[in-house]
Amino acid sequence: TRIAAFLGLGAMGGPMAAHVVRQMQRQGGRALVWNRTREKAERHAAEFGGEVVDLPGLAEADVIFTCLPTSAEVDEVLDGVADGLKEGATWVDCTSGHPEAARRQAARLVERGVAFLDAPVSGGTSGAQAGTLTVMVGGDAAALGRVRDSFAFAGKVVHVGDVGSGFAVKAVNNALLAVTLWATGEGLAALARSGVNLGAALEVINASSGRSNASQNLIPARVLTREFPATFGLGLLAKDAGIAADVVREARASAPVLMQVEALMRAAATVIGADEDHTAALRLIERMNATEIK
Ligand code: NDP
Repeated sequence: TRIAAFLGLGAMGGPMAAHVVRQMQRQGGRALVWNRTREKAERHAAEFGGEVVDLPGLAEADVIFTCLPTSAEVDEVLDGVADGLKEGATWVDCTSGHPEAARRQAARLVERGVAFLDAPVSGGTSGAQAGTLTVMVGGDAAALGRVRDSFAFAGKVVHVGDVGSGFAVKAVNNALLAVTLWATGEGLAALARSGVNLGAALEVINASSGRSNASQNLIPARVLTREFPATFGLGLLAKDAGIAADVVREARASAPVLMQVEALMRAAATVIGADEDHTAALRLIERMNATEIK
């Protein structure tokens, strides 16, 4: 019997794990679920039917998925279980983690005969629910081939390079999200101060070359409505921008805009709140300009 485990049933991990559980049920395998706060795992199992386990229960798993806030929490969990994993198992970390941590974790697991793939995802909580996430995978292509069928939450899976490259691509993608979100906010604040109707301005921008996911989706649905629904935390986006800055430094690349966006996201998370939705970063721009983006 094939056994898949999913660790970390948060905003992303919860719906991703539900797809893995349903797939294992269809295929006659077993699905194990674990969450630091156990009640969340019990609620998940009651709704979708996985088996709640303690960390030692992972010894049986063939494939182990993690989706935790940062690589630091993955390290904590690994400390508790690395020695008890089954030889030949594959650890698939869907956290938006750090490339350097991925290389260290892979080296540690390979000693136990366990493969490690960094496999962060994009598509947000709606993509996790729909099972249409894009997965960017770093690590051994043959190891990916062996577990690719278990990515029940994925619409698209792209092998991007050696271990750590998945995390690097994810960090750069999210730094680009931060740049477009922040810069569009700056532009709209300036237009608001000029007396322009922002709905009309966005109608133009979204039919023009300045458009982005921020201008087309995030700002109309979350900022103009003043709802800022917390699906992706501002603190997590600041963390991703920080990883992107580390990637830039390690590559000795020149990327002044990407380096600045880390400072801006950290400032926004500090002033506005790390647990607020990432789009609430624009509340800092509103304060800087004594205006509202609405
Ligand atoms: P959440 O805050 O919703 O969930 C975090 C999860 O991590 C919870 O299960 C939490 O457990 C667990 N956790 C926190 N600290 C620890 C710890 N010390 N030890 C063990 N478990 C811990 O985060 P998201 O689901 O939003 O994000 C998860 C990852 O996915 C992040 O890396 C994020 O950047 C990335 N991501 C998020 C997206 C989004 O739209 N939200 C989109 C794409 C990627 P507990 O229930 O006990 O608190």
